[in-house]
Amino acid sequence: MKQDCDQMATELLSVAEAKQNILDNVTIINGQEKLAIRQTLNRILDTDIQSTINVPPYDNSAMDGYAINSDDLPSSGETELKVIGKSFAGRPYNGKLNTDEAIRIMTGAVIPDGADTIIMQEHATATDSSILISCGHHKGEHVRRIGEDMKIGDTVLTRGKLITPSELGLFASLGIPEIPVKRKCRVAFFSTGDELKNVGEPLGEGQIYDSNRYTLYGMLERLNIDLIDMGVIPDERNAVRSAFQTASNIADAVITSGGVSVGEADYVKEALEELGEVNFWRVAMKPGKPLAIGKINNAAFFGVPGNPVSAMATFYQFVQPALQKMMGMKDGFKLTMQLPCMTDLHKQAGRLEYQRGILSHNENGEMIVNSTGVQGSHILTSMSRANCFIILPAENAGITSGDLVEVQPFAGII
Ligand code: AMP
Ligand code: MG
Repeated sequence: MKQDCDQMATELLSVAEAKQNILDNVTIINGQEKLAIRQTLNRILDTDIQSTINVPPYDNSAMDGYAINSDDLPSSGETELKVIGKSFAGRPYNGKLNTDEAIRIMTGAVIPDGADTIIMQEHATATDSSILISCGHHKGEHVRRIGEDMKIGDTVLTRGKLITPSELGLFASLGIPEIPVKRKCRVAFFSTGDELKNVGEPLGEGQIYDSNRYTLYGMLERLNIDLIDMGVIPDERNAVRSAFQTASNIADAVITSGGVSVGEADYVKEALEELGEVNFWRVAMKPGKPLAIGKINNAAFFGVPGNPVSAMATFYQFVQPALQKMMGMKDGFKLTMQLPCMTDLHKQAGRLEYQRGILSHNENGEMIVNSTGVQGSHILTSMSRANCFIILPAENAGITSGDLVEVQPFAGII
């Protein structure tokens, strides 16, 4: 049996090929809206942003202390400078600094005319109306330069950037009140399967609760997508056909779970063949071998497997990048790293595996990964316990504790 599976693996589509085909299958949606700064969070920037001002707009102090001219810095010993005024943030000193003079200055305050250096207050000995400073300072110390962050004419952000809290701050720093973003992508999704019940209904013999619609909801919501939840569709030809028809009329993309494995679901296949162009693939990955990808009317279609972990792994690896492309997102960097895995991992050569792992630090503070344990594609707790995928390449035939593995964290800081 095992050998059969391994031999069959050669007929499967590789994960890399599947990823590329899926990305090639989708195009960026049309439509833009202009939103106030706060509303743009988690949206996709739909224009390049050029700076029309310098940020900071003037040379200013990085410290609380004294503004001086570097010509007055002593080459040895100490020197005394007369404090002739104050420059506070928002309240600049209007005069000019002359030889042997200093200005009391606060962080963010304008560097007065004639000054080019800040001595932080901890390095100055203040008397009533003067300060003593010692040697060892240099010209330009603790001065923030005009335009050091953004200069007039700089392209600060490019179209396709996912807008995070930093970008909200950048828009505000540049004084831009409204920003063009891509319209939201609309996704309709439903589950297929006669065994599926909705939460709140009692479970009958041979029935289970539909969990995929909830994981899909969560994964789609995180992408800031407009969702149309169409519920559970029974395994009936007409019901499936009309669900596909409705979904493809109202959404940019349709996602279903279940009913794509070979032999199981001819009515799904039939409906899809009638309404669109859909390829049924067997991908050399685990969990999540069966996958249906294509178009129904003008909507992109993604049919992920029914097993709960397969549905999630397939979504993250294939559907999410495709949706991000449709949404107009350009920076698709995915962090992976090589780390020692402290658990033996069982695997047969043939399919790329996304096992579930737990990243942590060992007693020396070094990053390590461990398996979550049982890896069945129906074990949804393995996803919940995990904070990363452990990616084992197709040819890998298992590892022993201490081996390096590729790890893909679920989340970063932002
Ligand atoms: P299928 O892909 O339809 O052959 O389903 C594969 C396995 O996943 C079966 O054990 C199904 O009962 C289960 N399954 C399918 N859809 C769901 C769902 N929406 N929620 C939870 N389990 C599901
Ligand atoms: Mg099914």
